Amino acid sequence: MPPISSHFLELFDAAGQARGVHISAELWSRIRDKALPILERALYELDPSCRPQPEERPEPVAEWESLLAYWDFTYPPAYDVACAHCGASTPDWRADEPRRFRLRGANLGGLVTFQCQSCKSLILKKHFKKHLTVECLPYVERCS
Ligand SMILES: [Zn+2]
Repeated sequence: MPPISSHFLELFDAAGQARGVHISAELWSRIRDKALPILERALYELDPSCRPQPEERPEPVAEWESLLAYWDFTYPPAYDVACAHCGASTPDWRADEPRRFRLRGANLGGLVTFQCQSCKSLILKKHFKKHLTVECLPYVERCS
């Protein structure tokens, strides 16, 4: 317990119950950068609803378009996507507003990745010369 100071004061009610802490602006400015990450972690445990939503990256549509431009598979491109994990599906991922599946990546090797917006599974469409395979990887919560 630090000594009583105008910079740091633990507050108690009449019954002796801890009510909070007062930290002066000067003290706070000295510890802010170190204390804030610790406070945020503990706060998100106490109150998960204040956790910020991860920023969504824009869909890499240009990657998909270059794959189309160099399309040399023996079948035409298809736009249907289905999630084997939760059963969501769409006949054309580009047409859904809001998206049921978000494009996550497309490379010239023929790997196209989508994320299911209802269960977060990744859907991998692997294009080979003469055929296409589809895999569904259920979302795993990463521990931080
Ligand atoms: Zn799903």
